[in-house]
Amino acid sequence: MDNTEKLENKDEKNKESEYEDICYICHRPESKAGKMIKIPNEICICQDCMQKTFDSMNHMGFPIGDMSSFGNMPNISMINLSDLQNMGMNMMPKSQKLKKKKAKEEKKEKPVLDVKAIPAPHQIKASLDEYVVGQEHAKKVMSVAVYNHYKRVSCDIEDGVEIEKSNMLMVGPTGSGKTYMVKTLAKLLDVPLAIADATSLTEAGYIGDDIESVVSKLLAAADNDVEKAEHGIIFIDEIDKIAKKKNTHQRDVSGESVQQGMLKLLEGAEIEVPVGANSKNAMVPLATVNTRNILFICGGAFPDLADIIKERLNKKSSMGFHADLKDKYDKEENLLRRVEVEDIRKYGMIPEFLGRLPVIFALDSLSEDMLVRILTEPKNAIIKQYQKLLAMDEVKLHLEEGALRAIARKAKKKDVGARALRAIIEEFMLDIMYEIPKDDNIGMVTITEDYIENKGGPVISMRGCLALEEKAGVAGA
Ligand code: ADP
Repeated sequence: MDNTEKLENKDEKNKESEYEDICYICHRPESKAGKMIKIPNEICICQDCMQKTFDSMNHMGFPIGDMSSFGNMPNISMINLSDLQNMGMNMMPKSQKLKKKKAKEEKKEKPVLDVKAIPAPHQIKASLDEYVVGQEHAKKVMSVAVYNHYKRVSCDIEDGVEIEKSNMLMVGPTGSGKTYMVKTLAKLLDVPLAIADATSLTEAGYIGDDIESVVSKLLAAADNDVEKAEHGIIFIDEIDKIAKKKNTHQRDVSGESVQQGMLKLLEGAEIEVPVGANSKNAMVPLATVNTRNILFICGGAFPDLADIIKERLNKKSSMGFHADLKDKYDKEENLLRRVEVEDIRKYGMIPEFLGRLPVIFALDSLSEDMLVRILTEPKNAIIKQYQKLLAMDEVKLHLEEGALRAIARKAKKKDVGARALRAIIEEFMLDIMYEIPKDDNIGMVTITEDYIENKGGPVISMRGCLALEEKAGVAGA
């Protein structure tokens, strides 16, 4: 074995020691089941299971000392160690191994979350501003809620004052940036994030994902590190799809029951989750995750919620001397901003569920101006991405103002928010990305409004001409 091979082996061993041993029989990790007894081929069995095995042998009246006699007994099947060796625990995929909890002393030295290290709300918002266009109110609410949440996580409750959890409920049309904002936030705070879809969740025991699978996803996102997962964020999208079904006499396994099932998760409970799999079964190890400090953010488009809000506002304003016209709110664009808990309850969310999501806010639907800004302003704006791609071929990409407006206009018509932008751009960029690398002389491509409207082509400038133009520009100046 040469030196590099030895080093690699050592590295591998170190990495392995970061993970907990798991009992082959009961699948509990070392931290729960206690010290493991190791048998060849890295198979581990906890002392309980070992004891139980011996006890059951005793009950059956076999002399423990004389193990060889089993081989001759008819109809008796024992755990065959050679079988275990073939499918030993060392075969267990990394995704099903749990990371060891850090030792107590180590924890004291370096707290998992240092309150001074949590960026202040204005700093969180400033970072969000770099990526998310508009949505000022939502960004502000989120920054404050997240700041409070992590302050709550890092403070103690010895004085009896326990700060409540600031789980959030985001209401906003499709493609308005709900998922994008949460993703950006998790990246900025460097905490693990799990994104789940409420439509796939059902009450335990029915076809679909168990509610607890969302915690399992978070554990996977945290590299199977329970401590890290316990400070993470879980985003549950399409939450409006689990609204109470109206006029139904059947059991509502994917609606109200899911809301009921989520209550203890939102509030904070010890949940046993399968590691590295979506559902519990005999072959999957289990880990206990406490959701007390996990931040839950729910998001949904809540179609027709605007009508409920309008109805409430109309009712209020049609009474008394100051009665307003009935259609006063019909033309208001961002009516969702006026959302109240009452409206969402009417939509079909149960009060107990809403009680556990104290921060409710709405995102604006994206206007044409906002779409234009989304194209060019964010740090990773789509146009910037294409410019970078073409820059690798030493070609400049320029979009005229008219072209940007035309793209935004087209996207707005599709009514799926900013999601339409990428589809539109990819369609017209395809030819450009295909043709440009053919000719080394091309120095710049200008996308015009006519090209977007299918009335003309892009303007292609050759390298030689560009150099001449630049020279003339310098001379002119
Ligand atoms: P949804 O509200 O349906 O969850 P998404 O967050 O998935 O919408 O948004 C789709 C895409 O649109 C995102 O990946 C992002 O690139 C873009 N986007 C949406 N809103 C904004 C915004 N306000 N600023 C920048 N990009 C945005």
